[in-house]
Amino acid sequence: MAIDPTHIDLTQAAKERGVKFFLVSYTDLFGAQRAKLVPAAAIAGMVADGAGFAGFATWLDLSPADTDLLAMPDPASMIQLPWKPEVAWVAADLWMGGQPIEQGPRNALKRMIAAAADQGFQLKTGVECEFFLTGPDGAGPSDPADRGTKPCYDQQALMRRYDVIAEISDAMSALGWQPYQSDHEDAIGQFEMNWEYDDALVTADRHAFFKYMARSIAEKHGMRATFMPKPFINLTGSGCHVHLSLWRDGVNLFRDPAGELGMSALGYQFIAGLLNEATAMCAITNPTVNSYKRINAPVTVSGSTWSPNTVTYTGNNRTHMIRIPNGNRFEFRLPDGAVNPYLLPAAVLAAGLAGIKAKADPGPRLDIDMYTQGHTVTDGRKLPLNLLDALRLLDGSTLLRNALGDGLITSFLTLKEREWNAYARHLTQWERDNTLDC
Ligand code: ADP
Ligand code: MG
Ligand code: MG
Ligand code: MG
Ligand code: MG
Repeated sequence: MAIDPTHIDLTQAAKERGVKFFLVSYTDLFGAQRAKLVPAAAIAGMVADGAGFAGFATWLDLSPADTDLLAMPDPASMIQLPWKPEVAWVAADLWMGGQPIEQGPRNALKRMIAAAADQGFQLKTGVECEFFLTGPDGAGPSDPADRGTKPCYDQQALMRRYDVIAEISDAMSALGWQPYQSDHEDAIGQFEMNWEYDDALVTADRHAFFKYMARSIAEKHGMRATFMPKPFINLTGSGCHVHLSLWRDGVNLFRDPAGELGMSALGYQFIAGLLNEATAMCAITNPTVNSYKRINAPVTVSGSTWSPNTVTYTGNNRTHMIRIPNGNRFEFRLPDGAVNPYLLPAAVLAAGLAGIKAKADPGPRLDIDMYTQGHTVTDGRKLPLNLLDALRLLDGSTLLRNALGDGLITSFLTLKEREWNAYARHLTQWERDNTLDC
C-alpha cells in the first residue's frame, strides 16, 4: 500500500487503488484536522483550484468576512486509509487571495524547510506519540484490569489491547512507515508505537495521520485514543518526544565519531539554539492549559513523570529536556501529545538554525538525575509554569517571530490568549475547597 510520492496523479491513483473518496485535510493552529470528503471524480478540480473552506470556522484567526480559504491538496502526501481503503487522506496547504497564508501550520513548516535547504540542511525527524486508550467517555483506561503502579512494558496489559495495537502496527507496515516496536507505557492505559524517522515534512504528515488513525481504529474497537498531555493527574502524561538530525547529500551532519558522545560541533550548535529558545518555544511544544500539568509535575505513582522541568541537556539520561542517546541524533523531550505536528519541527528548525548561525555553545552537559538533584542546578532555567507564562515568553521572542513569521505568531498568540482567558473564567472545585472558609 506504500505510495511512490513522485508525480502522483490523484485521479489515476484513485483508479488504480479503488479509491472512491479523498479526504482533503488540513491541520489548523490548534492541531485540529479539518477536511472535505471529495469524490474521486472531482479531485482533479480540487488539485487545480483547491477545496473551499470558511476559514473563520476553524482555528486560524481569520475573519468571517474573509474570502474563501483554499486547501490545496499535496498529492505526494496521499495515504490510503488502511482501515477503509476506499478513502485516501491527502494533506493540504492553505491559500487565500492567490497566496499561501502565513498562519497555515504546514505552510510554516515548508517555509522553514526551504530556509534550511538554502543553507544546505535537511532536517530528519522521528516522533514518539504517546497516547491513552480509554473508554468512549475518556474518563479512565479502557482496560479495568490495567492497574499496576509500575505498569511500563506490562506484557499482560499490552496483549489485552493486541487487537487495536496490532491493527495500527499492521497499517503502518502496509503504508511503508517501518514500525519497529509498540509497548505499554508508564501510565495505566498508556501506549506508544514507534516507526522510522524520515524527512521532517514526511514525519509531520505521518504524525498528523497517526493521530487520526489511532483515534479511528480505537473507535472501531469501542475505545478512544487520546493524546491529551495529562489526562490523569497522578499518572505519567503523554509526551511527544522528537528525535532530530540534520543531513546534507545523504550524510548525517550530526554524526562525528571524534566529537563528544559521537556528535559533531554542528550538532551541539543546534542543541544550543534549542536550549536558548526552549522557554519561548514552550507555548508551541506544550500548547494547552493541560500541558503544564505534565511538565514541572510532582512525581507520579510510577515513581517518575519522565518529563522535563528545566532547560538542560545530557547524554543517555531521560531526566533532562534534551538527551543525546548517540551521536547520530538527539532527543527533545519537551513536546507533548497536544503539539501541532507541523509547528513542532518548524519551531525546532527556527531555533536550531539560529544556534548554527551564531555558532552557539550549549556549555557542558549535565549528567545528574534531574528528578532528585535538579535543585542543585541553580543556573538552569525553569520551564514556564503555565500557559499564560509560556505565551508571554513566546510573545517576547524576536527570533521565533522573525523565523516563523509575524503573522503566524500573532495569530497563534491571539487564539491562545483567548483560550487562556476562557480557562481563567472557569471556577474550579479546588478554589471552593480552599477558599470557601477564607
Ligand atoms: P526512545 O528511546 O526515546 O523511547 P524510540 O525508539 O521510542 O526512542 O523512538 C526513537 C525515534 O527516533 C524513532 O522514530 C527513530 O526512527 C528516530 N530516530 C533514530 N535515529 C534518528 C536520526 N538519526 N534522526 C532522527 N530520528 C531518528
Ligand atoms: Mg456551504
Ligand atoms: Mg519511545
Ligand atoms: Mg515513551
Ligand atoms: Mg523518547
